[in-house]
Amino acid sequence: MAIINPNYDKLVAGYLFPEINRRVKAFTSANEGVKIYRLGIGNTTEPLRPKVIQGLREGVDKLADVKTYTGYGDEQGDTRLRNAIAKHYASGNVSIDPSEVFVSDGAKSDVANIQSIFDVNNTVAVQDPAYPVYVDTNVIAGRTGHFDQKTNQYTGLIYMPCNEENGFIPNVNDLPAGVGKADLIYLCSPNNPTGAVMNRKSLESFVGYAIEHKSVILFDAAYNWYINDSTLPKSIYEIENAKKCAMEFNSFSKKDGFTGVRLGWTIVPKELVAEDATEGKLNAMWNGRQTRFFNGASNIAQEGGLAALSEQGMLESNVLVDFYMENARIIRNGLRQKGIQTFGGDNAPYIWMKNPNGMDSWKFFDKMLNEANVVTTPGVGFGPEGQGFTRLSAFGHRENVEAAMESIKQKLQI
Ligand code: PLP
Repeated sequence: MAIINPNYDKLVAGYLFPEINRRVKAFTSANEGVKIYRLGIGNTTEPLRPKVIQGLREGVDKLADVKTYTGYGDEQGDTRLRNAIAKHYASGNVSIDPSEVFVSDGAKSDVANIQSIFDVNNTVAVQDPAYPVYVDTNVIAGRTGHFDQKTNQYTGLIYMPCNEENGFIPNVNDLPAGVGKADLIYLCSPNNPTGAVMNRKSLESFVGYAIEHKSVILFDAAYNWYINDSTLPKSIYEIENAKKCAMEFNSFSKKDGFTGVRLGWTIVPKELVAEDATEGKLNAMWNGRQTRFFNGASNIAQEGGLAALSEQGMLESNVLVDFYMENARIIRNGLRQKGIQTFGGDNAPYIWMKNPNGMDSWKFFDKMLNEANVVTTPGVGFGPEGQGFTRLSAFGHRENVEAAMESIKQKLQI
């Protein structure tokens, strides 16, 4: 008799994006011909840049020739790409050995799969609001209790509130110091959905906590390409001792528009330790996990990744990032002109807006859709602290962003 994983039933029904789609569909069928503007999902919209296209084409050409054809590659990634990623860290004065780099088909899979190398009894801490993958994968793994409708939280999970009072930056003092300490701590900076970036001091406090309690930080840096302020850390490894307590995830998705191409990486330092794991053990475990469960990222995508990290590739991705950041500026200014309070959007492609008149997240979503015909993302979908907020994404064609803001300016009634 087969028995299913009962933890799936704990997941909150009506996951955020399907629910958004359901409401948009209902609106469009009731309002035929009305143009909808999408500022909701964080999906890239602009075409790949020339250097990356050249790299991808070279990848295809290699496969077309018997002399250069390759089949399965190393599960950990092409050595040239692992070296290039290590070199990229070196350019930011961070020393990473290529054997600590694991190339993958994207950060989402890694962020989701990483929990499988940790015991089910670990206590997990997440920022609130947060990218839903951190919570959902730990629910499925059985590290939480049920979803409590009253608190809008899973029992057994530590939520670190990120709100206006703390500038949307998690506070290490929200983690228990003794019994019930946090074993696995998910941090995302720049943050999806708030766009807030952790400064050096806050990262140092988390590294200090993790070292003291033998916890492991899972640091998601997928948006670090959007950091303009040179005083803000782009990698957790810019913090002293972080290699002893943190893994880092990154991706070519938001840097180069690889959301559909699929390529990312995870850093598992050799120095990383856990309560019962000495140096090298976690690196070997992730290597073991990847070699058993994964057959490597696409060789074509990896050629594209190599091109993306070349000098020309980096210049071209800066142009792409600047394009989206200009969208962020347009969205932020438009909302402010309307008297709406906004956060984020200066070192991240997300604008976190406070709903006018304290309006509930889903109610405001419906209002924005009905009045201005703009699709947004309700903040509460990222955690209870997101209630009363809305996320707007800077990923979009310029004319669509401008038209959406014009529609908000003219039609949204506040
Ligand atoms: N991490 C965060 C915080 C994200 O917001 C996203 C995608 O939106 C990802 C990771 C996924 O990255 P990838 O496309 O590499 O799977």
